[in-house]
Amino acid sequence: MSRFLSARFQALEAYVPGEQPQDMQYIKLNTNESPFPPAPAVREALNAAEIDRLNLYPDPEGRALREKLADFYGVGVENVFLANGSDELLNFFFMAFCDRDRPVAYPAVSYGFYPVYASLYGLPAREVPLREGFRLEPADYCGIGKNVVIANPNAPTGRAIGAADIARIAESNPDHVVLIDEAYIDFGGESCLPLTKKYENLLVCQTFSKFRSLAGGRLGFAVGSPALIRDLDRIRYSTNSYNINRLTMAAAIATIDSHGYYAANSRLIQENRAYTAAALDALGFETLPSLANFIFTRCPQVEGRRLYRELKARGVLVRHWDKAEIADWCRVTIGSRGQMDVFLEKVREIVKEAAHADS
Ligand code: PMP
Repeated sequence: MSRFLSARFQALEAYVPGEQPQDMQYIKLNTNESPFPPAPAVREALNAAEIDRLNLYPDPEGRALREKLADFYGVGVENVFLANGSDELLNFFFMAFCDRDRPVAYPAVSYGFYPVYASLYGLPAREVPLREGFRLEPADYCGIGKNVVIANPNAPTGRAIGAADIARIAESNPDHVVLIDEAYIDFGGESCLPLTKKYENLLVCQTFSKFRSLAGGRLGFAVGSPALIRDLDRIRYSTNSYNINRLTMAAAIATIDSHGYYAANSRLIQENRAYTAAALDALGFETLPSLANFIFTRCPQVEGRRLYRELKARGVLVRHWDKAEIADWCRVTIGSRGQMDVFLEKVREIVKEAAHADS
């Protein structure tokens, strides 16, 4: 830290993203990316003509892409907001709607960026404990009288709640904004996006980074009432008005046109998820029911940190946190069948070695 850093950031603990090692080729099951490349139409969209236009700024309104998304989801263009990844959207949400008088609540075990934004903006935050088995109880948020952020499915657990639960949360907090982070919704969960037509305080955020194989393009979006979208825009135009670059915009339009390709990939991920969970089950692991493109699992013989390290030494990266409540667990992104077979082979080796060391 330099002696120039503003006093208000001196205690800030920055978000730590999952490892993106550049040194060797790992089987990357640590940041919930898609194992599949973008659709062929995306490659065609990123052509020489598009590159030749890079001397010009992109459309700050992102109109063409917002129209595409609005059509796809059956909402108006005035209901759609674009951000440079859903991380940027979360930033705008915290900046726009939360302050000392409007604190925020989110699950105590959830996406690690929520507490970072709360700390960045000096917000009073309520971390609502999960119930037995990391289950999120919707009643814990009904009438809470705070802005609410819920990842659904939740991360890193993968557990999900239904749209009717979210309706109850939005309805019972009419004077606060309820943000549902649906980063992982397209792997079997029930989206509450249509409910944004009914609840003016409900904002739904999604990303192109997972289901749509575009993590490198950095694109997130939100759907909500026009007034909420205008508020987010006020912040966006006050921070970074050209937040979506031209290439990402072109890639995203082609992505939406290729929906069938991504839906088929999601079906494969869901099959591989069931396959991996069953194989781990046979080894005695405990795995939470997941509707996301990852599973949260623990091994009875090998504690979380060790499993992570042993897997990394064998070329497979998964995610582990040193936080007490989840220290036994690892989050494993679901990749291709081939990747999951290598993961399972390494897990079997590690479990066998642990059994040997014990005997
Ligand atoms: N929300 C959740 C719950 C996530 O797990 C992630 C990915 N790490 C994000 C948002 C951010 O995704 P992106 O910025 O790539 O859209």
